[in-house]
Amino acid sequence: MSSRAHSRYLGRRACLATLHDKLDLIAPAMESHLGLEVFVEGVDTDRFGTFSGEVPRPRSAYETALIKARAGMVASDARFGLASEGSIGTNSFFPLVSDVEFVVFIDDEEGFEVAEQATSFDIVAHRWVVDDLRTDGDQLHRAGFPSHGLIVHPEDSSLPVFKGIHDLDELESAVRTCRSSGSAQVVIESDLRANHCPSRRPTIRRAAERLAERLTKHCPSCECPGWGPVDEVRGRKCAECRWPTNERLALVMGCCRCDLRRTDQVTTEPGDPSRCPRCNP
Ligand SMILES: [Zn+2]
Ligand SMILES: [Zn+2]
Repeated sequence: MSSRAHSRYLGRRACLATLHDKLDLIAPAMESHLGLEVFVEGVDTDRFGTFSGEVPRPRSAYETALIKARAGMVASDARFGLASEGSIGTNSFFPLVSDVEFVVFIDDEEGFEVAEQATSFDIVAHRWVVDDLRTDGDQLHRAGFPSHGLIVHPEDSSLPVFKGIHDLDELESAVRTCRSSGSAQVVIESDLRANHCPSRRPTIRRAAERLAERLTKHCPSCECPGWGPVDEVRGRKCAECRWPTNERLALVMGCCRCDLRRTDQVTTEPGDPSRCPRCNP
């Protein structure tokens, strides 16, 4: 029988805390792997911090996702909670914008929480400053407009005046209003909320898929769902000199509830000399 038929979540309901249209991204994986039905609780998740900066986000994306999931569970009196949060930023090694999406699950019956993540460099995120009303087609193209939404605000204020703009007339009117407020320069930037940023959505879906699969795996000791990677061991031996490189040697699998840890997937492949501290210091 499939893991779904054995799932302890079969026919149960979990609350997804979001205002950003994430049900389609998260519910299908939970339903197909676990038989878990997901419903949305419209928690104002923006109060835990926003990408656009008008509400600072002091915690990590993972911690923020946990707080959101908990808020949804409290609001809907649910035993199971889900939430997602993205961490979007520039990477020091590549001139690309990275998008790391976390999806978390809280189970108050079994008493554990677990997260999975997915990373992508395909996110469309762009920011530019305008000092007149001309519409720059090249900039709009780079911002993925109009499928990707935009935020418009005066440069001297981080307060977004207009958000979720997908329409050219609306964009021009927003720029005009910002300029008439006395600001010579106006910032136009990507609205990174999941419902306005389609290039984030496949990554959230991938993280949800991983999370649902992880929830089908159980701890060999206490049978808690969510058995999976919790750490890794580095030190694969260099192909040239046998010195330990910083490449991954093994995965550490662990339980979300008890202390059981097992080293798994130990690789016998030699390490890359270019990542060896001796061969390539
Ligand atoms: Zn070496
Ligand atoms: Zn366990």
